[in-house]
Amino acid sequence: MSRNPNCPFCSLDTRVLKENNLAQAFLSNPRKVPGHFLVIPKRHIEQPWDLTKEELADIFELIFFIEKRIVSQLGEGADIRQNYRPFLKQGKLKVDHVHFHVYPRYNEDYLYKVAEKYEADLFTELDPSEMAEFAKLLKD
Ligand SMILES: [Zn+2]
Repeated sequence: MSRNPNCPFCSLDTRVLKENNLAQAFLSNPRKVPGHFLVIPKRHIEQPWDLTKEELADIFELIFFIEKRIVSQLGEGADIRQNYRPFLKQGKLKVDHVHFHVYPRYNEDYLYKVAEKYEADLFTELDPSEMAEFAKLLKD
Protein backbone atom coordinates (compact mmCIF):
# COMPACT_ATOMS: atom_id res chain seq x y z
CA MET A 1 0.00 0.00 0.00
CA SER A 2 1.56 3.33 -1.01
CA ARG A 3 1.96 5.79 1.85
CA ASN A 4 3.14 9.39 1.99
CA PRO A 5 5.40 10.18 4.98
CA ASN A 6 4.07 13.76 5.11
CA CYS A 7 0.43 12.68 5.20
CA PRO A 8 -1.41 12.46 8.55
CA PHE A 9 -3.96 10.05 7.07
CA CYS A 10 -1.25 7.57 6.00
CA SER A 11 -0.34 6.87 9.64
CA LEU A 12 -3.64 6.79 11.54
CA ASP A 13 -2.82 3.69 13.61
CA THR A 14 -5.09 3.73 16.68
CA ARG A 15 -7.45 6.36 15.24
CA VAL A 16 -8.97 3.77 12.86
CA LEU A 17 -12.39 2.70 14.14
CA LYS A 18 -13.56 0.52 11.25
CA GLU A 19 -11.85 -0.86 8.19
CA ASN A 20 -12.20 -3.31 5.37
CA ASN A 21 -9.72 -4.49 2.76
CA LEU A 22 -9.02 -1.13 1.05
CA ALA A 23 -10.62 1.59 3.22
CA GLN A 24 -10.62 2.97 6.76
CA ALA A 25 -12.98 5.09 8.87
CA PHE A 26 -12.08 7.37 11.78
CA LEU A 27 -13.28 10.51 13.54
CA SER A 28 -12.36 13.88 12.07
CA ASN A 29 -10.12 15.96 14.33
CA PRO A 30 -10.84 18.81 14.23
CA ARG A 31 -14.52 18.05 13.59
CA LYS A 32 -17.44 20.10 12.38
CA VAL A 33 -20.09 18.43 14.53
CA PRO A 34 -20.10 15.50 17.00
CA GLY A 35 -20.13 12.25 15.02
CA HIS A 36 -18.12 13.67 12.09
CA PHE A 37 -16.43 10.65 10.46
CA LEU A 38 -13.94 10.47 7.62
CA VAL A 39 -13.59 7.52 5.23
CA ILE A 40 -10.39 7.14 3.20
CA PRO A 41 -8.69 4.71 0.85
CA LYS A 42 -5.73 2.99 2.54
CA ARG A 43 -3.61 3.92 -0.48
CA HIS A 44 -2.43 7.56 -0.59
CA ILE A 45 -4.35 9.18 -3.44
CA GLU A 46 -4.92 12.91 -3.94
CA GLN A 47 -7.34 12.95 -6.87
CA PRO A 48 -10.69 11.18 -6.39
CA TRP A 49 -10.77 9.94 -9.98
CA ASP A 50 -7.63 7.88 -9.28
CA LEU A 51 -9.61 5.59 -6.97
CA THR A 52 -10.06 2.09 -8.36
CA LYS A 53 -13.50 0.50 -8.60
CA GLU A 54 -12.48 -1.83 -5.77
CA GLU A 55 -11.42 1.11 -3.55
CA LEU A 56 -14.67 2.93 -4.30
CA ALA A 57 -16.67 -0.17 -3.39
CA ASP A 58 -14.83 -0.53 -0.06
CA ILE A 59 -15.06 3.22 0.68
CA PHE A 60 -18.80 3.31 0.01
CA GLU A 61 -19.34 0.12 2.01
CA LEU A 62 -17.93 2.00 5.05
CA ILE A 63 -19.75 5.24 4.19
CA PHE A 64 -23.13 3.53 4.01
CA PHE A 65 -22.40 1.47 7.15
CA ILE A 66 -21.68 4.71 9.05
CA GLU A 67 -24.62 6.53 7.48
CA LYS A 68 -27.03 3.76 8.52
CA ARG A 69 -25.64 3.77 12.09
CA ILE A 70 -25.92 7.56 12.28
CA VAL A 71 -29.49 7.59 11.03
CA SER A 72 -30.65 4.68 13.18
CA GLN A 73 -28.83 5.59 16.40
CA LEU A 74 -27.99 9.29 16.40
CA GLY A 75 -30.53 11.24 14.50
CA GLU A 76 -32.61 12.05 11.52
CA GLY A 77 -30.23 12.26 8.57
CA ALA A 78 -26.64 12.41 7.36
CA ASP A 79 -24.48 14.30 4.89
CA ILE A 80 -21.81 12.69 2.70
CA ARG A 81 -19.29 15.06 1.19
CA GLN A 82 -16.03 14.98 -0.75
CA ASN A 83 -14.05 18.17 -1.42
CA TYR A 84 -11.38 18.51 -4.10
CA ARG A 85 -9.55 21.78 -3.50
CA PRO A 86 -5.95 21.56 -4.74
CA PHE A 87 -5.71 25.36 -4.55
CA LEU A 88 -5.55 25.09 -0.73
CA LYS A 89 -2.32 24.10 1.02
CA GLN A 90 -2.35 21.03 3.26
CA GLY A 91 -2.83 22.00 6.90
CA LYS A 92 -4.91 21.28 9.99
CA LEU A 93 -8.18 21.84 8.10
CA LYS A 94 -7.13 20.41 4.72
CA VAL A 95 -5.45 17.07 4.07
CA ASP A 96 -4.53 16.10 0.51
CA HIS A 97 -5.28 12.35 0.98
CA VAL A 98 -8.71 11.78 -0.62
CA HIS A 99 -11.39 11.54 2.05
CA PHE A 100 -15.16 11.50 2.35
CA HIS A 101 -16.95 13.25 5.21
CA VAL A 102 -19.97 11.56 6.85
CA TYR A 103 -21.79 13.37 9.64
CA PRO A 104 -25.21 13.46 11.28
CA ARG A 105 -27.82 16.06 10.38
CA TYR A 106 -30.95 17.13 12.19
CA ASN A 107 -33.76 19.48 11.34
CA GLU A 108 -32.49 23.05 11.87
CA ASP A 109 -29.24 21.75 13.43
CA TYR A 110 -26.08 23.72 14.23
CA LEU A 111 -24.78 23.61 10.64
CA TYR A 112 -28.11 24.88 9.40
CA LYS A 113 -28.22 27.71 11.93
CA VAL A 114 -24.65 28.94 11.40
CA ALA A 115 -24.38 28.49 7.63
CA GLU A 116 -26.97 26.69 5.56
CA LYS A 117 -29.93 28.88 6.35
CA TYR A 118 -28.06 31.61 4.46
CA GLU A 119 -27.38 29.32 1.50
CA ALA A 120 -31.04 29.36 0.48
CA ASP A 121 -30.35 32.80 -0.99
CA LEU A 122 -27.66 31.30 -3.27
CA PHE A 123 -30.15 29.16 -5.20
CA THR A 124 -31.50 30.62 -8.42
CA GLU A 125 -33.55 29.26 -11.31
CA LEU A 126 -31.41 27.64 -14.00
CA ASP A 127 -31.15 29.84 -17.07
CA PRO A 128 -31.50 27.96 -20.45
CA SER A 129 -28.25 29.45 -21.83
CA GLU A 130 -26.36 28.43 -18.70
CA MET A 131 -27.91 24.96 -18.99
CA ALA A 132 -26.65 24.67 -22.59
CA GLU A 133 -23.20 25.95 -21.62
CA PHE A 134 -22.72 23.41 -18.84
CA ALA A 135 -24.34 20.56 -20.79
CA LYS A 136 -21.37 20.91 -23.18
CA LEU A 137 -19.07 19.99 -20.32
CA LEU A 138 -20.41 16.43 -20.39
CA LYS A 139 -20.26 15.91 -24.16
CA ASP A 140 -17.64 13.40 -25.35
ZN1 LIG B 1 -1.99 9.79 2.76
